[in-house]
Amino acid sequence: MKRITERDRILTVAERWDAQYSMLASGDTARQISERLHKLNLKKVKASTVNKVIGNDSWTRVMCEECEKDVGQAVVLYGSWPDTAIEICESCLNLAKRVIQGKVQ
Ligand SMILES: [Zn+2]
Repeated sequence: MKRITERDRILTVAERWDAQYSMLASGDTARQISERLHKLNLKKVKASTVNKVIGNDSWTRVMCEECEKDVGQAVVLYGSWPDTAIEICESCLNLAKRVIQGKVQ
């Protein structure tokens, strides 16, 4: 279990982009985006700037997999199968606690 935030997404965006697109026959666009991402100060840059470079917000967004809302931060729960993980927001974690206590169904 660990906490992830929008900043965590931003800090790893260049590495993740390269990992995904170096395996493909990288086109010019993917390479140009990689170069632009590596030039950014990932400790300070806003998500909106990263989103503009990439063309969408899927690389910076933190979305809860239970309520499907953009939440800014979440907890990652790891399953026992390799590479299984689910990201849950604070609100859904609080609800889960009430469910396990039998207070709501
Ligand atoms: Zn949620």
